[in-house]
Amino acid sequence: MAATLKDYIPIVGEGVVSELELLGARLAGKRVINVNSTRVGGGVAEILGRLIPLLNEVGLDARWEVIQGTEDFFALTKHLHNALHGKSHTFTAQDHAVFDDTTARNLKSLDLDGDIMFIHDPQPAGLVRRRAEAGGSWIWRCHIDLSAPAPGAWEFIEPLVRQFDLSVFSSPQFARTLSIPQVLVSPSIDPLSDKNRDLSQSEINDILSRLGVHSDKPIVTQVSRFDRLKDPVGVLEAWRLARRRVDCQLILAGGGATDDPEGAEVLREVRERSDNDPDVHVLDLPPTSNIEINAIQRASTVIIQKSLKEGFGLTVSEALWKGKPVIAGAAGGIPLQITHKYSGILTHTIEGTAFWIKQLLSEPEFANRLGTNGQNHVRANYLLTRHMRDYMLAFLFLANINEDVIKL
Ligand code: UDP
Repeated sequence: MAATLKDYIPIVGEGVVSELELLGARLAGKRVINVNSTRVGGGVAEILGRLIPLLNEVGLDARWEVIQGTEDFFALTKHLHNALHGKSHTFTAQDHAVFDDTTARNLKSLDLDGDIMFIHDPQPAGLVRRRAEAGGSWIWRCHIDLSAPAPGAWEFIEPLVRQFDLSVFSSPQFARTLSIPQVLVSPSIDPLSDKNRDLSQSEINDILSRLGVHSDKPIVTQVSRFDRLKDPVGVLEAWRLARRRVDCQLILAGGGATDDPEGAEVLREVRERSDNDPDVHVLDLPPTSNIEINAIQRASTVIIQKSLKEGFGLTVSEALWKGKPVIAGAAGGIPLQITHKYSGILTHTIEGTAFWIKQLLSEPEFANRLGTNGQNHVRANYLLTRHMRDYMLAFLFLANINEDVIKL
């Protein structure tokens, strides 16, 4: 059964839950329509699936719509995503036509009758064209690292973004110079979801043996969509270098997202590069594999998130929450989650990653300390309850935009 707010009290304390109820009462009945571009796969879908029931529990009327798009549209928005992360791409008039066409179709089919339109990421941003007619407050929630976009990428969406009432970014360094107000809200993980809740050792063992992974050697893992920016091939290379010194196996676990057309190609490449090594487990998991991912993370000795570019990187918080030592690329929101050598390890290269894999496998006490510090950091900052509070405060801000002081 899905968790209710009171189930969070043992984890975050009664005060946090009472505060959520108080904010919910101030927003009772507000119709909040979240729109993104995929129901499954990736961090945004992960969060919405858990947040919406809790917003409804405290009295809001929240729902979740997903835009539909053609292959052309998702190929374009993937280019846009990569270009916003800094990879160069030339956008043509045809690209704009594809984007506008999909936006127009979705404007016809989606029910956008709400008080707060909460639009996630660039794909559905064009829906803001309906703003004058639909009314309500419009929020653009950006989960992407916008600190160094390629030329033309920000210009593609900025004319849309400036039509919103408010923008939300995950980290201070992603914020842009904008004519609309910006607020900073980090993403979060749900400690009670199947992805993160406690599992018994026998559940973990059963799942790992079903997936064909033996427990006879330490496990090094990366969980990520098969996406070049997550650098699965770099993980494989780093693991190979480390294995020369310490015997261990590697799990690369991932799956696709319906708005990510590159996944199959990257998966094929990773499989080829793994050379049928029996110590490499490349797992293409269906989107329902939450307990499996939980078990894989809990069975791992070291977790990698070798992102070259990253929005926030929920998988880092997921691993830290399980008390695991994490070695991660110092990209996007990852340094918010990891303080180097205190609550994890930040790396920039394959060689650096390999060095730290070897080091953490050889120094379990240090590795445990990193994991424990990381877990405390996640408890204080990156759980769903904090995220829900921040969103409700943003809604209240919009509802009282002309006030200097908002009384709760
Ligand atoms: N995830 C999943 N199955 C996969 C790969 C990833 O459920 O095969 C989950 C992962 O556990 C995390 C989210 O998808 O909760 C990925 O979020 P993150 O912020 O790390 O990266 P994104 O995919 O949004 O770039």
